[in-house]
Amino acid sequence: MLGIGIDIGGTNTKLVVVNRAGKPLTHERFKTESSKGAGYFIKRLGAAVEELRRDYGRQLVSIGIGAAGDVDPERGVLRFSPNLGWRNVKIAGPLEKLTGLPCSMENDANMAAWGAYEIELRRKSGNILALTLGTGIGSGLILDGKLYHGATGSAGEAGHLKIVPDGRQCHCGGRGCLEAYCGSYAILARARELIRNEAAFIRKFAQPGREKFNTICLTNAAAAGHAMARRVWAETGTFLGRGLAGLILVLNPDCVVLTGGVSRARRWFLPAMRRELECQQIKTPFTKVRIRISDDADLGSHGAALFGLEKALK
Ligand SMILES: [Zn+2]
Repeated sequence: MLGIGIDIGGTNTKLVVVNRAGKPLTHERFKTESSKGAGYFIKRLGAAVEELRRDYGRQLVSIGIGAAGDVDPERGVLRFSPNLGWRNVKIAGPLEKLTGLPCSMENDANMAAWGAYEIELRRKSGNILALTLGTGIGSGLILDGKLYHGATGSAGEAGHLKIVPDGRQCHCGGRGCLEAYCGSYAILARARELIRNEAAFIRKFAQPGREKFNTICLTNAAAAGHAMARRVWAETGTFLGRGLAGLILVLNPDCVVLTGGVSRARRWFLPAMRRELECQQIKTPFTKVRIRISDDADLGSHGAALFGLEKALK
């Protein structure tokens, strides 16, 4: 038996087919193109699922979706997604009708948390906090081996914890959010304040063929000993540690899993993050928690596939 996992992101939509052990058999992707409307997107998604069914036929038994935004998992509705510019879009129901497969939908960070629980930790830890560190910051919670939704399905909006009173502007419209310090857009904005000659910096540290000011460029600079790049990453670690400390105090997880593009700069932000965790006064939760970094760029879609299978086969 196989499950389809779908990760709906602002730029790309990824599809994966996995078996029950979590082994991915195939990956597909297409441009989300949310500006063409939700109706167009669902048809496109239905066609992509049909292609997979041509290859795998009746072995496919379920679809699990992770979507970037505020999701109502009961009704399969994407209530609001700033990245996609959509409000109140029904996705799970229409896709079920199109494909005839049972379909569940959750927030994308929740599905990354499920992926961490199933694939990275093999269900050996029951209390997990996953933080997705990308342009924005999402989080998902597994508590006592179950995905935790909260009262309205909105649990885990860690990116909008206020960590600095009246601090930097966040994409959500508020100020001082964790994301406004540790989302990649915020890290780059801070780097621009400190690095005077951006063009020369890019020439020196960008990946060949991708001459852009991005977090990879900033990581390369830190590795080459660039003092300002190291300072930006250390600041990022301090803010991340501050947000994480609050979450650990409340949740007392066995394990924190960091994933997403920014987590690749671990070497440069983890020391400052750990220092922030070590200086807390209530010691036990901080000395017991394990911090893991996942390099699986498809943790969200793999997690969604396994979550969909889990629900369909119950
Ligand atoms: Zn915010």
